[in-house]
Amino acid sequence: MTWRRHLVHAVPTQHTVPVADAVAEETELAELVRGARYVLLDFDGPICRLFAVRRAQDIARAQVEWLDRQGLGSILSETEREDPDPHTTLRLLAEQRRGSDLVVEMEKRLTAEELGAVGTAWPTPYADPLIRTWSAVGVRLAITTNNAPEAAGRYVENRGLSDCFHRHIYGRTQDLELLKPHPHCLHRALNAMGADPAAALMIGDATTDLVAAEAAGVPFLGYARSEHKEAALRSAGAKHVIDSLEPLLTVLRTRP
Ligand SMILES: [Mg+2]
Repeated sequence: MTWRRHLVHAVPTQHTVPVADAVAEETELAELVRGARYVLLDFDGPICRLFAVRRAQDIARAQVEWLDRQGLGSILSETEREDPDPHTTLRLLAEQRRGSDLVVEMEKRLTAEELGAVGTAWPTPYADPLIRTWSAVGVRLAITTNNAPEAAGRYVENRGLSDCFHRHIYGRTQDLELLKPHPHCLHRALNAMGADPAAALMIGDATTDLVAAEAAGVPFLGYARSEHKEAALRSAGAKHVIDSLEPLLTVLRTRP
């Protein structure tokens, strides 16, 4: 097994990491994976790249322009305008205009974008076999996402993975204050599966996933497909970060 290739260490130059530390991290990670009886997966990132064709940032920019047309551009800071994120923008609008039709409309537009993107989403390498293997060895799986649950449901159906999740797909609700980092969708998944948080594992690619997992008492494994994402997860306190799902599959296939 070649864990070390896939582990993303806190120190940028991997070869400078003491071998003993790297081995200890590999062992901890294998234990984390083998100890998980429930796995909560974020959708966009660990399962697929939803906006593979039209980038999430393009959608966020369209949201900013839409807000400007509504005369509400001032709810965003300069940073949020320059590097917008669809869910952050939606949450900010929800905070500023609680219960308004504008919030409902922006959420509907985002849901339509997400549903439209399902057909062109790129599967994350090793995600499909990993999900099937986890399901086959009796681990209960759920999706805990800030995306519309309809989009995640349609994607797993298209991939023939619906049976692996047994309808445990928990996404954005009308109450946008409950988006991650709020642990609401994790709580829903844990409650529905009757899961002890300590026996679960959350895999996510954003700091909001990490914060939500910590709030729910669920161990966290970061998946970072870029150095930028890795740095964000590490600086937020993620202990384990991988840049490929392949080693997780290897651990499951070599289960004692
Ligand atoms: Mg994500």
